[in-house]
Amino acid sequence: HGITIDDLIKRADIVMYDVKQNNKKAYNFFENRYLDSLQREVDFENKVNQYSFDDYQVYLQPIVNTETNEVYGFEGLTRLFDKSNKPLNTIDVIKVLERQGKIPELDMHVFDTVTQYAKQLKQRFKKDYYFSFNVSPVTLSEDFVTYLADKVKAEHLDPTHFIFEIIETIGFKNIDESVSLLQKLRNIGFQIAMDDFGMGYSSLSYIAKLPLSVIKIDRYFINNYYDNEFDRLLIFAIKDISKSLNLKIVVEGIETTRQLEFIKSLGAHYYQGYFHSRPMSIKDLMIKLDKGFE
Ligand code: C2E
Ligand code: MG
Ligand code: MG
Repeated sequence: HGITIDDLIKRADIVMYDVKQNNKKAYNFFENRYLDSLQREVDFENKVNQYSFDDYQVYLQPIVNTETNEVYGFEGLTRLFDKSNKPLNTIDVIKVLERQGKIPELDMHVFDTVTQYAKQLKQRFKKDYYFSFNVSPVTLSEDFVTYLADKVKAEHLDPTHFIFEIIETIGFKNIDESVSLLQKLRNIGFQIAMDDFGMGYSSLSYIAKLPLSVIKIDRYFINNYYDNEFDRLLIFAIKDISKSLNLKIVVEGIETTRQLEFIKSLGAHYYQGYFHSRPMSIKDLMIKLDKGFE
């Protein structure tokens, strides 16, 4: 599949990475389609590179009280629209920024925007909503903690109303250091949520080590609890763990009444999902809040 050594090694490498990603115990031969998918990745990365952080928007998705159906707060989710106003896939954008080492900058930008929105919403609706924001494992650092601490002080914000969402891999590199940084955030007043819970590989002892106040159950379980008994059992186990660790439960991805009824019976405190509303711009959100979301 090549004439020069370089080409052969490069192409063998491409196939090896693909095989490793899809099925670890296998082999395969090089085909041109590999170059196509590589090319698509390169094109996507070039597209992302055309934008600066000022071009990124932050959408807000309501987090809703399961019992009362009242909006409790919002999660800030980053959105990048291309020149024809089509949104790029957020997860793919995040992956590119992670690869390029730019993710802490984005997370800071999103936090700044969320704090501005918090002020605007408070002023207009006279309500103290809660605000969640996502943080990549590489973002968690001494500098970031200082940045957040300075920001809430300078802007006179109540840190207890800001929820720092982490994913399970947060402490994989150095658990003690991560715990100590998260503890600092807790001491300032921030809440910490474990996002996409149940999808990672954490042991229970690992979960108990982190200074959490919220657990967000991944959408995967909500899609599968009905047909899959194991997933149903797992969801009940997660509920029991959360209860004994005194954590609030948020369930993600609620799309139907049936799902909502199920998590109500489970005793989950809050939910997010298309059933209530999709993530939206601050402008659209204000219109919805004006109308009482009906
Ligand atoms: P996440 O934090 O778990 O966010 C929830 C994702 O589920 C969002 O996707 C949201 O649009 C989607 N979602 C909400 N309700 C429903 C539903 O009912 N059905 C379905 N099918 N999906 C629903 P989104 O916005 O594409 O974000 C994907 C992921 O990208 C996020 O998952 C988060 O891990 C990451 N992300 C987003 N913004 C940021 C950011 O500012 N910084 C970092 N580091 N990561 C971010
Ligand atoms: Mg999240
Ligand atoms: Mg999630």
